Amino acid sequence: MTEDFDAIVIGTGQAGPALAVRLAGAGYKTAIIERERFGGTCVNVGCIPTKTLIASARAAWVARNAASYGVAIDGAVRIDMPTVKARKDGVVAQSTNGVESWLRGTSNVTVIEGHARFESARVVRVDGRQLTAPRIFINTGGRPTVPAIGGLTDIDYLTSSSMMDVDFVPEHLIVVGGSYIGLEFAQMYRRFGSNVTVVEMAPRLIPREDEEVSQAVREILESEGIGVRLHAQCIDVEKRADGVAVRVSCEEEPRVIAGSHLLLAVGRIPNTDDLGLERAGIATDARGFIVVDDQLSTNVSGIWALGDVNGRGAFTHTSFNDYEIVAANLLDGEARRVSDRFAVYALFTDPPLARAGMTEREARASGRPVLVGRRAMARVGRARERGEMKGFMHVMVDAETRKILGAALLGIEADEAIHCIIDVMSAGAPYTAIRRAVHIHPTVSELIPTLLGELSPLQQAIADIPPLILA
Ligand SMILES: Cc1cc2nc3c(=O)[nH]c(=O)nc-3n(C[C@H](O)[C@H](O)[C@H](O)COP(=O)(O)OP(=O)(O)OC[C@H]3O[C@@H](n4cnc5c(N)ncnc54)[C@H](O)[C@@H]3O)c2cc1C
Repeated sequence: MTEDFDAIVIGTGQAGPALAVRLAGAGYKTAIIERERFGGTCVNVGCIPTKTLIASARAAWVARNAASYGVAIDGAVRIDMPTVKARKDGVVAQSTNGVESWLRGTSNVTVIEGHARFESARVVRVDGRQLTAPRIFINTGGRPTVPAIGGLTDIDYLTSSSMMDVDFVPEHLIVVGGSYIGLEFAQMYRRFGSNVTVVEMAPRLIPREDEEVSQAVREILESEGIGVRLHAQCIDVEKRADGVAVRVSCEEEPRVIAGSHLLLAVGRIPNTDDLGLERAGIATDARGFIVVDDQLSTNVSGIWALGDVNGRGAFTHTSFNDYEIVAANLLDGEARRVSDRFAVYALFTDPPLARAGMTEREARASGRPVLVGRRAMARVGRARERGEMKGFMHVMVDAETRKILGAALLGIEADEAIHCIIDVMSAGAPYTAIRRAVHIHPTVSELIPTLLGELSPLQQAIADIPPLILA
């Protein structure tokens, strides 16, 4: 028997639940399907658990450094990993249960558990059930990439997902992948007490960032005792009696790094290979991402793709923004587009890196006349008071339009301070809107108007850059 709906949502990631509830509220009889845990990646194995674990790691760091603040801790600082994990599990459970009960408690929404597959452009099968709808929304997210590394099938390895089950402190964690996810785990486990080595194939960490950002992040991690091995062009792995050995070079010494555990953090692939997309005629690109237009429609009319699965973003906030775009266009008569948004994200190391808009490399390539303002965190009162002065703030402005082109803030509270820049960029207002704002003292944000009052042309600023102060 076929069950008829007005809308079907596949996946309960960061776009699906909000969309299902919105559609149901607008009178659409809506089915939402989940094959695993409600809330998807962010809630169960992504943002929420990692930031909860990072909070425990920071508590350990603060305790170890307490003496420098005049706080005496008599006795060693110990990590109780089962409790760290239990705390994380508790925070995750609250969120995943919240998503599930929200959906189940919404009238006009039918929650179906199981793996969804297209039978055709209008029919979706979930186990024995056959559902139809004129509108289908795909929010199936992604999963960690497992690269074709020699020897991998013979060893036990961890991914960002299986790291969530770890309730012990590895003796020596080797992290293959020196980008956002890998670096957050690297610092977290170093602070829990592991020896940590990051292995990256590229010549620098987080190669998407500007060189000075990569370099400063590297210095921050190395200052905590994290080993960084770049240019690892020739990676393969081998089982050892006490763990794992990772070959990092065919020529340069050291050729091999030995550790107790291996974490692979080399990117994510979309969950599209087991969706039956070919039966619905839905096009994907060479990497498996569903091809969408600027309003997130696929090539098949009546089918949309939202979140990581469309390759137009890889964050919770981009997935949620996808929901807002689709809902506004479908239900509110608006014409919102993905291309209206600009890049914003953070790397939640401590201190964090927050980014908005263009990198310096992109700004140079744009050919625009660029002004830049720069300030070391050591010159920010709040950072000095906190005794955490690593990093810098860097903001670029278009000299003609006076609009902010991009910003990289690396330092304490950067993930919050960036929002005054994001809001002005979103409003399409000139940088002078921040310049004239009165910010609260003493905060990190209060220095952003000051920094914008000291702009100089990009070339000159590069020549004049004071050495990075990474206290
Ligand atoms: C370790 C880690 C840390 C991260 N930290 C951050 C961060 O700090 N900030 C940030 O913005 N982003 C972060 N991200 C990224 C963020 O988690 C994702 O971008 C976000 O979850 C968006 O996902 P989504 O909405 O596309 O779908 P997802 O959250 O991936 O959810 C997809 C859902 O669809 C379900 N599903 C898949 N296929 C089917 C099917 N065939 N049938 C039924 N159900 C199906 C899955 O089970 C899953 O529940 C992190 C990711 C990781 C891995």
